[in-house]
Amino acid sequence: MARRTSGLPLRTTTCSRSAIPGTRERFDTVPDTDTLKDRVRTAIEEHRGEIVSLATSIQDEPELGFKEVETTRKVVETFEELGLEVEEPLAVTGARARIGSGDPVIAVLGELDALVNPEHPKADPETGACHACGHHAQIATMVGTAVAFATTDVLDELDGRVDAMAVPAEEYLDLGYRRSLKDEGRIEFFGGKQELLRRGHFDDVDAAMMVHAADDTPEREVTARNSTNGFVGKFVTYTGKASHAGGAPDEGVNALNAAVMGMNGIHAARERFRDEDAVRVHPIMTRGGDGVNVVPSEVTMESYTRARTIEAIEEANDDVNAALEAGAMAVGARVEIEDEPGYMPLRTNDAMVDAYEANAADLLGEDAIVTDSPHLTGSTDMGDVSQVVPALHPWAGGFEGNVHREDFAVADEEMAYVTQAKIVAGTIVDLLADPDAVEAIRAAKASKKSREEYLEDVRAFQDRVVGDYME
Ligand SMILES: [Zn+2]
Repeated sequence: MARRTSGLPLRTTTCSRSAIPGTRERFDTVPDTDTLKDRVRTAIEEHRGEIVSLATSIQDEPELGFKEVETTRKVVETFEELGLEVEEPLAVTGARARIGSGDPVIAVLGELDALVNPEHPKADPETGACHACGHHAQIATMVGTAVAFATTDVLDELDGRVDAMAVPAEEYLDLGYRRSLKDEGRIEFFGGKQELLRRGHFDDVDAAMMVHAADDTPEREVTARNSTNGFVGKFVTYTGKASHAGGAPDEGVNALNAAVMGMNGIHAARERFRDEDAVRVHPIMTRGGDGVNVVPSEVTMESYTRARTIEAIEEANDDVNAALEAGAMAVGARVEIEDEPGYMPLRTNDAMVDAYEANAADLLGEDAIVTDSPHLTGSTDMGDVSQVVPALHPWAGGFEGNVHREDFAVADEEMAYVTQAKIVAGTIVDLLADPDAVEAIRAAKASKKSREEYLEDVRAFQDRVVGDYME
């Protein structure tokens, strides 16, 4: 048991098992899920002030991935106020609290990190970091769920444990810093959940869930049945030879020309991408030359190759790398392509989606459930988790503007910060109380990859291709 008697007074006082002998036996037969859900929702309602102010405080002090020191500290303080023992850090940053005992173990995740968009009105003036993806609201959901089970004895009536996990570095950016962490041996992967998986933090987890902000959806709606693309990340360096751009261009090797041809080669490769694979390749040039009167000798690019399945990512990525190499070949330059594991495709668990949708409908009405959910061509490292553990990753309304853009904002505090915790806590009650759901989750877990199999797959994305056509 992780619960302690010290810390914040537990305001939702309910009878404990020892205080009323016989309670356990009664619920063993028929857990009254309606009553249990009333209790977790009431607990969240009673702590709504703390939950909302934690979320807004995190929004006001955004930190980028693997740098979420203050954000982690705020979550740790909240866990400790709830009387929970805290494990930290998980992977550079991050924290976890275990509530209850036994199994199955259901982990509720909240992502700690912000992203970079200096034009966002709440962006940090120095770093450009801002919560334009609503991760601060995920922390509210995660902490609200922790409140629901830490301040009540609901878990005493159910078999299972609830782990609240504040997880680092979902946004795949600030890669120079992450490369330095990698060089120092502090991480192997750029994604926070990939690192958590590698370090074994999901080894004892039977099901994992989190709720993400929906794109431009101020309405009280949820979408829970999406899948997402996975991707491989890419760093490209073209090397040529500098010379006077006016006086002696014939003596140089133009790395920018090589890069432009490489990029156009990718565009030509697009006609080979099948619609059903949902391939997305979106290169950027990060260094295009240094002085306009010098033939560029070094040009760098970054890209992702995204697709619906691991096989489709590998296939499209081979085409992309061949196109990039062809640019070097065409002008007699050198190209070095470094592939880094991106994120794995997300596949959600039906039993968990069913329970989530039932609880969302209960609180928001049947119309709130969006069922014509398409495949999404973006990516999340929850996809990696879903390769190993049955997972739930709904998108929830209450947010206006497009995610990652400067107009992204919370439109509905109730929906963004409080309602999702009630839905998730109710979902956990239903899952743990239903032997068929527990059975379905255990069967799904048994069919997933082991940690070692997952690591083998993700490490296969790591590659270095060199094409040297310099004279
Ligand atoms: Zn996000």
